[in-house]
Amino acid sequence: MRMVVLENSPNAKMNKSVLNRFLALPQPEDKVQAMYVWIDGTGEGLRAKTRTLDFIPTSITELPIWNYDGSSTMQSEGVNSDTYLYPVAMYRDPFRLGNNKLVMCDTYKYNKKPTATNHRHSCLEAMQKAADQKPWFGIEQEYTLLDMEGRPFGWPRNGYPGPQGPYYCGVGANKVYGRDIVESHYRACLYAGINISGSNAEVMPSQWEFQVGPCEGISIGDELWMARFILHRVAEEFGVCVTLDPKPMPGDWNGAGAHCNFSTKEMREDNGIIHIENAIDKMSKQHLRHIKAYDPNQGRDNERRLTGRHETSSIHDFSAGVANRGASVRIPRQCAEDKKGYLEDRRPSSNCDPYSVTEALVRTVCLNE
Ligand code: ADP
Ligand code: MN
Ligand code: MN
Ligand code: MN
Ligand code: MN
Repeated sequence: MRMVVLENSPNAKMNKSVLNRFLALPQPEDKVQAMYVWIDGTGEGLRAKTRTLDFIPTSITELPIWNYDGSSTMQSEGVNSDTYLYPVAMYRDPFRLGNNKLVMCDTYKYNKKPTATNHRHSCLEAMQKAADQKPWFGIEQEYTLLDMEGRPFGWPRNGYPGPQGPYYCGVGANKVYGRDIVESHYRACLYAGINISGSNAEVMPSQWEFQVGPCEGISIGDELWMARFILHRVAEEFGVCVTLDPKPMPGDWNGAGAHCNFSTKEMREDNGIIHIENAIDKMSKQHLRHIKAYDPNQGRDNERRLTGRHETSSIHDFSAGVANRGASVRIPRQCAEDKKGYLEDRRPSSNCDPYSVTEALVRTVCLNE
């Protein structure tokens, strides 16, 4: 099966030892490649392009504003298509090494107003208003590997793998598919300077998870988006695709989410459980508003996943409980015992925009909006 997949992937077939000859060429010391990364008009897709800098940047403020053709990314009309890239966060480039950088950007229209899929702009405003409450986030990014035909990677061409059960956190050639990608991605994120905190194989075969966090404020969105970019880029070299679709296989197969773990300074202090319960109470009154913010299509993507089965709650109801993986919001058992810590919002879809998710949480819980 694997051979079939690689045959179909032009990228995987390329001879990487030739690439390595050129990547090994000495790079002029005063020339840095900066790859600018941004979210396109779908609110899910990522785009990137590179420019050479004549200096080694040490802070994000030194990076120039740039632009691109927004009409090719579903972000503008052809007649007024120049769209601006504002650098917001900088990471070490795990593909080009050296002083080269990956640069997360947000996007602005010709009139300097944020584009329709720039959800960072308003998220940052909320994070700044709530900064004294020190909001922390940890996101569990689930995803599925697909072959070039769009089948889950490693699944039999005709038919299905055995039912779910042996795959979650599994080991062995008949239990997990694509670990090379997972391991490469983990190291690449660590190298880049992303606060990746773990990874595991998921319940459906060829589905995986990595976690980013805890991160304070706006940085969770920046880091998760760049971790997604690195994942697509690593998988590309293996000739494998990554989907963040929340229900890639209909039927008796788990969907994919992006559980958002959230705390404020008060929740982390002794007896913070009172503040956790208070937050859950506020969230219960804003269920619909949160569902709309938790996938890029106002809840329509999550409808296929939040069925009340396969370790999810129903999209129609809000529920909460200690150690309950069938609830909208779970208080982890350890936090209930310690009477402090954080809560886990299990509703966000795997393809959510973390800027929208964390903004909704902060506006509801910290800003009482
Ligand atoms: P699960 O048991 O739901 O699979 P994981 O171990 O996958 O949980 O993920 C837990 C996440 O919670 C991690 O991303 C971690 O960074 C995050 N986290 C831990 N403590 C806090 C906290 N105080 N506030 C916010 N997030 C936290
Ligand atoms: Mn051109
Ligand atoms: Mn997890
Ligand atoms: Mn999981
Ligand atoms: Mn979880």
